Amino acid sequence: MEYRKLGKTGAEVSTIGFGASPLGGVFGEIDEVDCIEAVHAAVDAGINLFDTSPFYGLTKSESVLGRALKGIPRDSYLLGTKVGRYGAEEFDFSKERTIRSIDESLQRLQVETLDFVYCHDIEYGSIDQVVEETMPTLRMLRDAGKLRFIGVSGYPLRIFREVLDRTELDTILTYCHYTLFDTSLLEILPYLAKKGVGIINASPLAMGLLTNTSPPPWHPAPKIVKDACRKAAEIAGDDLAGLALQYAARNPAISSTLVGMSSLEQLKYNLLWLKATQSVTPNINTQVIEILEPILNMGW
Ligand code: NAD
Repeated sequence: MEYRKLGKTGAEVSTIGFGASPLGGVFGEIDEVDCIEAVHAAVDAGINLFDTSPFYGLTKSESVLGRALKGIPRDSYLLGTKVGRYGAEEFDFSKERTIRSIDESLQRLQVETLDFVYCHDIEYGSIDQVVEETMPTLRMLRDAGKLRFIGVSGYPLRIFREVLDRTELDTILTYCHYTLFDTSLLEILPYLAKKGVGIINASPLAMGLLTNTSPPPWHPAPKIVKDACRKAAEIAGDDLAGLALQYAARNPAISSTLVGMSSLEQLKYNLLWLKATQSVTPNINTQVIEILEPILNMGW
């Protein structure tokens, strides 16, 4: 496994991280035993970054991940969760809820300290509140030893500048903006580098669009994007996920790419593609890029 420095944190993170939202059943039913095997095999393979949130499966992801990580030496992995989002439409970035949220997450995850805490999907809250209330609360909790590094996450790239122009962050978590059909993250990389902030890129498979299975019913992409991805899957089959992961994980400016997984089979497949030095199917890769070209940076 290759490791990269995460901004100025001093932490070194594996080039792929384990996204645990699928452990909450967000992408469909899970088999908990299979999930736990995947987490154990991930640690064995050197994946040292795990990401979850109380929102994923309405606390289920944290509970399953906590059970999976139990007994694994705490210094062999870095664990991140989030505050502020507790349901599809439920947001609370207040001091009181943040303090309670961290205590609840620590309990569910069965650890004494969190390595990363992100304010979750801040575009749905008030940037003022995040900067003036949530951040100071997280710093207080950091000083009390409950967490180590602080960040924000969300979809529109403008939010990172909106926060970083006003306060310091250790890390940011962006998603679906560095994939085979969306490279818009590249535009803000120089700004983020100037700020020295650690960059975590999530959803290299565009939350299931760049796989050979149907995306979840809640997927926000417009029909044109879903149709193009389905066409790409018709050409590439199971290789589509591998191509997509390889593409995202290769950019050294991105410290780690979080891929959501819920089975040992997926983990093994993803590790295999990560290790391949180049695409094993270059012809298919070219065809896939052509199919996705019309939806480049279209987003949602
Ligand atoms: P993703 O792009 O990683 O795709 C996950 C989906 O792909 C799941 O259905 C998974 O089962 C499937 N998959 C994984 N490997 C596969 C393979 N080899 N073949 C076929 N299917 C495969 O999307 P994601 O899970 O949303 O993103 C990764 C992680 O990043 C999340 O789990 C979460 O931890 C984090 N994240 C955070 C935010 C945020 O903070 N706002 C947003 C999105 C993601």
